[in-house]
Amino acid sequence: MKMNDELLRKVLDFRDSRDWGKFHNAKDLAISLSIEASELLEHFQWRSSEEAVHHRKVQIAEELADVLIYSIYLADTMDLNIEKIIYEKMKKNEEKYPVEKSYGRMNKYTEL
Ligand SMILES: [Mg+2]
Repeated sequence: MKMNDELLRKVLDFRDSRDWGKFHNAKDLAISLSIEASELLEHFQWRSSEEAVHHRKVQIAEELADVLIYSIYLADTMDLNIEKIIYEKMKKNEEKYPVEKSYGRMNKYTEL
């Protein structure tokens, strides 16, 4: 893995030093990632965006970190290079959403 190797190593060492890798199959990591994303949403539920960010920023940051950590575990388990898959997806997004068609608009690419 590239992309800030020291940070990735810390996340993976946390897993490995506890021998948790044996539990980390792709399906359960995908489920865990989704659960953490839902925990993130809980802080926004019944609040305006501004209220949530103002009153729950610390908790939101923690849940966002959980999502990112599970993303790292899922990528590692599936032998995916995080930097490479993000670059590839950004290339597709740039093709789907050319600046001249999508600038300042929130339409889906099928409606541009
Ligand atoms: Mg959490």
